[in-house]
Amino acid sequence: MSPRQSNEDAAKRGGGRESSPSGRPRSRRRKGSDKRSDKGALRVPAENIDPALLHRDAKRAVQRLQAHGHEAYFVGGCVRDLLIGRAPKDFDVATSARPSEIRRLFRNCRIIGRRFKLAHIFYGDHIIETATFRAAPGEQPTDDDDLLIVDDNEYGTAQSDARRRDFTVNALFLDPSSHEILDHVGGLADLERRSLRTIGDPSVRLAEDPVRILRAVKFATRLDLEIDDPTWDAMCDVAPDLDKAAAPRVLEEIFRLARSGVSTAAFQMLRDVGALDVLVPVLEEYLGPEDDIPERAEPFWDLVAALDAHVRAGDHGAPSSGLIVALLYALPYELELERLAADGELPDSRARLAATWEMLEDMAERTRLPKKDFTRARKVLVAQQNFIAPPERFSEVLFARSEEFVDAFLLFQLRSQARGVGLDIVEAWRDRAARARAAGRDELDEERKKTRKRRRRRRRTRGGRQDR
Ligand code: ATP
Ligand code: MG
Repeated sequence: MSPRQSNEDAAKRGGGRESSPSGRPRSRRRKGSDKRSDKGALRVPAENIDPALLHRDAKRAVQRLQAHGHEAYFVGGCVRDLLIGRAPKDFDVATSARPSEIRRLFRNCRIIGRRFKLAHIFYGDHIIETATFRAAPGEQPTDDDDLLIVDDNEYGTAQSDARRRDFTVNALFLDPSSHEILDHVGGLADLERRSLRTIGDPSVRLAEDPVRILRAVKFATRLDLEIDDPTWDAMCDVAPDLDKAAAPRVLEEIFRLARSGVSTAAFQMLRDVGALDVLVPVLEEYLGPEDDIPERAEPFWDLVAALDAHVRAGDHGAPSSGLIVALLYALPYELELERLAADGELPDSRARLAATWEMLEDMAERTRLPKKDFTRARKVLVAQQNFIAPPERFSEVLFARSEEFVDAFLLFQLRSQARGVGLDIVEAWRDRAARARAAGRDELDEERKKTRKRRRRRRRTRGGRQDR
C-alpha cells in the first residue's frame, strides 16, 4: 500500500463515523466477548505460534515462577505480535508472584519503580520485565492485607490484570508450558478480525489516560488494525484532553509515531480524531481544516512520506527528536519567512532564529520538549538556508562539522526528495560534507580563526566593550 493510499484509508476511517444522537459513541456489543470474560478466560491452543519463537530466557523465567507455585505468562505486545506473525520487540512476563517473591527466585533480578514495583530479570544484556498482576481500575483490593502494599500498589488476579490493560489485543496471556493463549477480554476474536478496541467502555478508558489515543493510532497504523467504531468515537471525544495528559508521555508517543515508518497514516489519523489540533496547532492551522489548501497539504504529506521512506530504508538509524520537530514545522516556518520577506528585507539568520522561537515556543513549553531538542530543531530550521543561499561569509567546513549538520542535511534531503527538486544540491553537499569530515585540525583552526576575527570586528563598540 502506498503512503497516499494508507493516508486515504486512514481518512476514511475518520470520516463518516456516526455517533449516537447525544454525541456520545454508541455502545455496540461484540458477540460474546464481554460475557465470556465475566466467566473467566478462554483457553485456546496457540497453534499458529512456533514454540521456537518464544524467547528462551523469558520462557525460563516463566517456568521457574510456575515451578514455585506461581501463575506466570507472557503478556501484552509479545503475545499479540506472535499471533499476527511479527517479531516481538520484547517479552514481558506477568505473574501472581509478588516482587519480593520474584527477587527470591532470581539472583539476576532488580526491583524497579516507585508507585508500582516491577522486577527486571537480567540475562546478559537482555532484560525480562516481570510484573505482578495488578488490579483493574475501580476494582477494590481484596481483604487480603498482602494485596495492598503501598500507594497504588494494588495487586490483583490474571483476570484483573488483563482488564486494566488498554486494548483487547494487548491483554492476551500466553502460557509457554501448555502453549495456550488465555483470553479474558475477547482479544483473540478482535485480532482475528483485525480490530482495535479498548477493554471496557472506551469513553471511560480513554478519559482515564488520553495517551491511549496515541497508542491506538500507533497500533492501528503499525499493525494495520481497524479501530472499532465506539473506540474511534471516544478518541474523537477525548482528544482535547490530550492537553492535560502527562507531557513527556505524549511527546514520546509522537516521536514513536514519527519514527514508525508509517507516520503518514498516523499523522493523518491524528488529524482525523482532532489530536493534531491539540498537539501541533501551528501545523493544523497551516494545513487548513480539511487539507483544503492543496498547495500546502500536498507538500506536507509528501515530506512526511519522504520521512517514512527514509525510516523504512532503515540504514541510517532513527531520526532524532530535533529533526522530527523541525520537519513538522518546516513548511509553516517557510511560509513565515515568505511573510517576513514580503514585509521588507530578506530576514537574516538572527531574524530567522527569532522566527523559530515564536513558532516553536508554545509547543515546546506545552510538551516540555527537552531544551536540547528545542535548540536542535530551531538550528535545523534556520540552517536550511545554508544549503541553497549561504550567507556572504560562511564556512562550509564548519557548518558541515557542526552539531546540527546531520539533521539539517537530512531535512534538506527529505524536502528535496518530497519536491523532486534540488537533488543535485543534495549530492554536492554530500561531497562537501565528506571533504569537511576529512579536514585536519589546521584547516578547522584556520576556518575558526576567520570567523572569530569577523565576529570580534563586528561586535566591537566605540567604547571598546563587547556587545552581548
Ligand atoms: P510495543 O510492541 O510497542 O512495545 P506493547 O503492546 O508491548 O507494544 P508497551 O508500551 O510495551 O506496548 O506496553 C506493554 C503492555 O502494557 C501493553 O501491551 C498493554 O497491555 C500495557 N499498557 C501499556 N501502556 C498502557 C496504558 N497506557 N494503559 C493500559 N495498559 C497499558
Ligand atoms: Mg512492549
